[in-house]
Amino acid sequence: MKAGLGAASLAALGTRPGFARKAFGKKATARKILILGCDGMDPELTDRWMKEGKLSAFKRLAAQGGFRSLQTSIPPQSPVAWSNFISGMNPGGHGIFDFIHRDPKAYFPVFSAAATEEATKTIRLGSTVFPIKGGAVRNLRRGKAFWQTLEEHDIPATVFKIPANYPPVATKQRTLSGLGTPDIFGNYETFQYFTTEPKEIREDIGGGEVRQVYVIGNRIEAKLRGPVNTFKTDRPNADIDFRIYVDPQHPVAKIVIQDHEFILREKEWSGWKRLRFPLILTQSISGICMFYLKEVRPVFRLYVSSINIDPADAALPIATPPSYAEELERTFGPFFTKGLPADTHALDNDILDEAEFLEQDNFVYEESRAMLDHELGRFDSGLLFFYVSSTDQRQHMFWRLLDEKHPAYDAKLAKSFGSVIEKTYIEADGLLEHAIRRVDKETLVLVMSDHGFNPFYRGFNLNTWLRQNGYLRLTNDFKREDLEIGFPGTNWSRTKAYGIGLNGLYINQKSREADGIVEGGAEADGLIREIARKLEEFKDPQTGDQVVLKAYAAKDVYSGPYTDEAPDIVLGFNRGYRSSFGSPLGRVPKDVLEDNRSKWSGDHMGAAEILPGILLSNRTIRADAPALADLTATIMDVFGIEKPRELIGTSVFKE
Ligand SMILES: [Zn+2]
Repeated sequence: MKAGLGAASLAALGTRPGFARKAFGKKATARKILILGCDGMDPELTDRWMKEGKLSAFKRLAAQGGFRSLQTSIPPQSPVAWSNFISGMNPGGHGIFDFIHRDPKAYFPVFSAAATEEATKTIRLGSTVFPIKGGAVRNLRRGKAFWQTLEEHDIPATVFKIPANYPPVATKQRTLSGLGTPDIFGNYETFQYFTTEPKEIREDIGGGEVRQVYVIGNRIEAKLRGPVNTFKTDRPNADIDFRIYVDPQHPVAKIVIQDHEFILREKEWSGWKRLRFPLILTQSISGICMFYLKEVRPVFRLYVSSINIDPADAALPIATPPSYAEELERTFGPFFTKGLPADTHALDNDILDEAEFLEQDNFVYEESRAMLDHELGRFDSGLLFFYVSSTDQRQHMFWRLLDEKHPAYDAKLAKSFGSVIEKTYIEADGLLEHAIRRVDKETLVLVMSDHGFNPFYRGFNLNTWLRQNGYLRLTNDFKREDLEIGFPGTNWSRTKAYGIGLNGLYINQKSREADGIVEGGAEADGLIREIARKLEEFKDPQTGDQVVLKAYAAKDVYSGPYTDEAPDIVLGFNRGYRSSFGSPLGRVPKDVLEDNRSKWSGDHMGAAEILPGILLSNRTIRADAPALADLTATIMDVFGIEKPRELIGTSVFKE
């Protein structure tokens, strides 16, 4: 999957997105709306820390207008949930059902958010290929974004890093893409790590690359991996050679790369460095990354962050108008553009430790804070949406240290990092406090999250469960497991159902799947009901707990023109459970359940009923059980726009 998205994304480089550069909506609105979107903020934790007096701005807002749980999407994954909010529809209307969809003709996982088409016409000159026509990245979310509707009514909006908007949909409004935006490899994360310790070399490490280096006479020669060069017929990587000089006495090293020359002390970050990855004579790709000198001696260890798309010279579309990203860069210097900004896999793989990861994630927070300030300073009309990522990323990585029952709990680490999540909520409270002070009385302030959070104790291998229940068959019945992605060992002529994606189950249906065997209509419907019932009956033999709290039939929970593209069953896990890491990509491991010992320890793949997000407002919320799509309707209502027909929500300020 990594290779697929990576290679393809850069094929789009021949063309720059042609967004209009005209100014955005000019209407001065009587009311303004400020929305702070804190990814993954959980109502229970928010309530607890509000009651303990730790979230004073939240508490004041709750007293003013109310604090509610906000019904999330089915499933409560960020791309799905934010798409509900963006479009005011459910997944049947916007077509995003999971992080991962599947190609029914290949039984293979594909990213749901964006697709890249390679150039349809190229010219070849020797070993060089020039794209002439085609080649573009496409946002796969359907329906209109709320800021597009506002634009039609000439109401200005600034939308900062809202997830599920990569590439940003065409608009004259100011938008910057967020979650879903790749690094320059087209991946969600690609850190690089250079070490002299052979024991640390691992071939296949998720989210990055580890490379052995040698110190020869105080000097290290290394190569920084660059993106695939699609201008060359053999598609090599556009790597950059660089050199490190290790100080013979002090824990210090000098790094020389392109026109940069800088000295780092041990445990020091370099700040952003801009690099140009050479493609052909007239073409290169600009990327930005940070260097971190983890150790000089006895082992030399250097970490290089994922190479982010350069906001000053974006190789892929990240903003509307493109000049918006350039303008922010001129004001603040380079900044994180990658959708999941911090490198969580680097922490998960012990490349960065907890403190180092937090240092990196703190850069994200500081950058965002400055940009929020900047936007508040010119917020004189319309809507401002601002996104906070740390609430989600840190709950994923630090849940294990706030919860003694977690298989990855570590008492020693918990002493230092057990309060990271609490501190992160307090930081969000600080952002809100700051924002409230800067807006006038006429501004409607909304704080929302897309879903809540819960522990991830045990991983469920859906495909293994399907195999044990006779719905999925391997070609070799005696084989204990099939660990390659994309079901290479599956016998499709005897398989009735399979799982792809974090919550998705598909029937192997005739004339839809390549080798489908189940007749559509009544036969498929009967099978869906049967499997859903059995899934809900299944208990964890170790704990006796129900694993799948709700197995939703897509037809029961989705409406809209794209319902047919949904998984046939969407799994809503019980508290503590989630799909395993392998099954969503089409692996069939030996055991149905496995303990999660990974640092990725909190999650939100459960039943929507148990993972609501939050909603707070400075104006009285009248809805008892508001949902994400109701917020979209609320925006229309506040600006006096007649609600577009396809929107399913109702303003939260109406009874
Ligand atoms: Zn998340």
